[in-house]
Amino acid sequence: MPLLYAPRLAGRAGTLSGYLAQGYGTLGRILSVEPPEVVAYLMAGEDWYAAPRDNARPYPPGLPYFTRSVEPPALVLPEELFTVFRPRTAATLPLTVWHELAHAFLLGREVVRTPAWLGEFVPQAASAAVARGAGLPLQEHLSRMEREPGLTVRTFRGPAGAGDQMSFQNLLLLLGAAALEEFGEDFLRRIFHALWEEDEIVDEERAEELLGAALGPGGREWLVSRPEFQEEPL
Ligand SMILES: [Zn+2]
Repeated sequence: MPLLYAPRLAGRAGTLSGYLAQGYGTLGRILSVEPPEVVAYLMAGEDWYAAPRDNARPYPPGLPYFTRSVEPPALVLPEELFTVFRPRTAATLPLTVWHELAHAFLLGREVVRTPAWLGEFVPQAASAAVARGAGLPLQEHLSRMEREPGLTVRTFRGPAGAGDQMSFQNLLLLLGAAALEEFGEDFLRRIFHALWEEDEIVDEERAEELLGAALGPGGREWLVSRPEFQEEPL
C-alpha cells in the first residue's frame, strides 16, 4: 500500500508502512475480499491543512481519517496523534491506523447508513482482530482504559466532544475484543458482507439483528447481555 510523506518523516513512515502492510494483508484475509485500492498520506504538522478531505473545513490536527475525496481514496495520517487518544500503549497507534484502514475496506463498496455504534463497532473489532494477530498487548491496552460512568454504546449521542468520542470508541473496542474472544474472528467477514448486501437504511433493531446473526449461534443473546450494549445508562 503506497504511503506518501515529507522527507523529514522517513523514520515515522517506515513504522507506519509496517502497520499498513500488516493491516492490509490481515484484513484482506479475514474478510476474504480483494483489498480496496487506497493510498496513505503521512502529513507533517505544518501541512495538515493541505491534506485531502471531504469537507472544506480541515479536521482537528492529529485525527487520522479516511477520505474518498481523492482518487484513489486516501488514509490521512498525522505526524503526531491528537492527545485525546487514550490510553497510550504500544497498541494505540497501530489500532488507530487499522481502524481507518477497516473503514477503507468497508467503504470499498456501497454501504447504507447504520446507527453510529454499528458503523464504528465494525472498524474497532477489525482493528482488535489485527492487533491479536500481530501479538500486540491488546489486553493491557483494554485494562488501562478509563470508563465513563453510565456510558454505553447506545446511550452515546453525537455530535460530541473529542473526549466523549474517545470514550465511545473505547467501549466499542472493549465490545469488539470481547466478541473476538467469544466467537472468533469469522464474524467480521459475515458482518462486512451483511452490510454490503443491505440496501435499506439500517435502524437500531436491524443493526442488532445483523450483528447478532453475524456473531453466530447465541450471538444476539450475548450482545444484548453485554453491559456496553445496554439501552439505559449503566
Ligand atoms: Zn471510525
